[in-house]
Amino acid sequence: MTTSTDNKMEKIVALCKRRGFVFQGTDIYGGLRGAWDLGPLGVALNNRIKSEWWKMFVEGREDMYGLDAAILMNAKVWEASGHVAGFVDPLVEDTETSERFRADHLLKDNGIDAEGMSLEMIDATILERGIKSPKGNPLSKARTFNMMFETRIGATAGPEGQVYLRPETAQGIFVNFKNVVDSMSPKLPFGIGQIGKAFRNEIAPREFLFRVREFEQMEIEYFVRESEWQEQFEAWRLAIWQWFDHLGLSRENIQEFEVPENDLAHYSKRTIDFEYNYPGKGFDELAGFAYRTDFDLQAHAKASGQSMEYVEGDGTKLVPHVLEPSFGVGRALTAVLCESYREDEVNGEVRTYLALPTHLAPYRACVSPLLKNKPELVEKARGVFMLLKKEFGNIAWDDNGNVGKRYRRQDEIGTPYCIVIDFDTLGENPDLLDTVTIRHRDTGEQERVAISELVSRLK
Ligand code: ATP
Repeated sequence: MTTSTDNKMEKIVALCKRRGFVFQGTDIYGGLRGAWDLGPLGVALNNRIKSEWWKMFVEGREDMYGLDAAILMNAKVWEASGHVAGFVDPLVEDTETSERFRADHLLKDNGIDAEGMSLEMIDATILERGIKSPKGNPLSKARTFNMMFETRIGATAGPEGQVYLRPETAQGIFVNFKNVVDSMSPKLPFGIGQIGKAFRNEIAPREFLFRVREFEQMEIEYFVRESEWQEQFEAWRLAIWQWFDHLGLSRENIQEFEVPENDLAHYSKRTIDFEYNYPGKGFDELAGFAYRTDFDLQAHAKASGQSMEYVEGDGTKLVPHVLEPSFGVGRALTAVLCESYREDEVNGEVRTYLALPTHLAPYRACVSPLLKNKPELVEKARGVFMLLKKEFGNIAWDDNGNVGKRYRRQDEIGTPYCIVIDFDTLGENPDLLDTVTIRHRDTGEQERVAISELVSRLK
């Protein structure tokens, strides 16, 4: 059964709330725009995405090192990186309601690409095309708005107390470049990977987890000799596609967008956005991949007075160039949910299920006794549950309602296998003693498997 893309996203958001994946942040006080909380199943899925990423890109490679830098950093980092001066978005206000909008997004909604436009060009376009706010009111002149959250540390009132919540994890890697080189003696090319929170005071957070003010990034800074950046760029591009395959995203739902030269960030010589086809929204950024040249290391060398040179085996000194694959965890989670959301018909009723890959599913399997009021069944089922829980950890127990209802509940949260302990398990049919039924989520097919083989079968 097909689901119209228009309301598919609404159904996913409703499922996320109903089944404990994602809740509106601070819900009981009316929420906070741009902030979402992960529920028990959301945090399980989120953690799995992060641990699979870490396995693939850090532990799975010989040329990668992990890092976890502090969120709060000396403010000089953000001056040197150009964020204090330039991490801005164009803002316009509804002159009647004072509501604020991203000018480039408003223009895009009116079919105009505002990438690279100056504030004057935005003003002129708004005037020329008669663009109004979504409520139909006149708009203010465009101005820039810095997206970094500012805060203060300690009790000092002066400028030395000024700090920012990091708007990207990348700078934590650059400022530790020397530390990693000195402590690990890596050979070029090599990379540093980090997963952590980032904060952006987005003017208009919207579209569920797509544009929020607090989010997680999984970022890699890959250090190369300048002469090899193109070759390494191609290798990483393939690795990024493999990551999307591993998330179970189909290739036709992803496209590469080559950012035109005049729209490139000040530090980049080439950037590709990987875009996902979000239902009801269309293709938009899922991850970014930028060649950042030696901009950041040179900027920090200049501002800190510390050398960022790398010494090759033959004594040659150089400041490496950088390739940066940058992934948002929330956008990956959204894409995974959109990709796996399915509806079909079982016994004349609509069934909703998440066809999540087993390595991402919050629960790998659910164990239940056929009937909950038969102690001998419950006891046997508890034994199987404990056996699997010890092995995999993420095993659910469900003895509520009838078996059909349990299947529906587990389907909806993407549990790949449901295991039922029945009277045959206890030996009512001697041939089936100590075997259980495994029911497969996507096909509904059932098979009989010996308890002794369950662990290897579920692996
Ligand atoms: P956009 O153009 O959509 O604002 P960006 O190009 O500014 O994104 P990058 O700076 O390249 O984003 O950040 C890398 C990744 O971090 C993005 O591909 C995205 O997955 C994630 N990300 C960035 N901003 C947000 C946000 N406000 N909410 C959720 N994820 C974000």
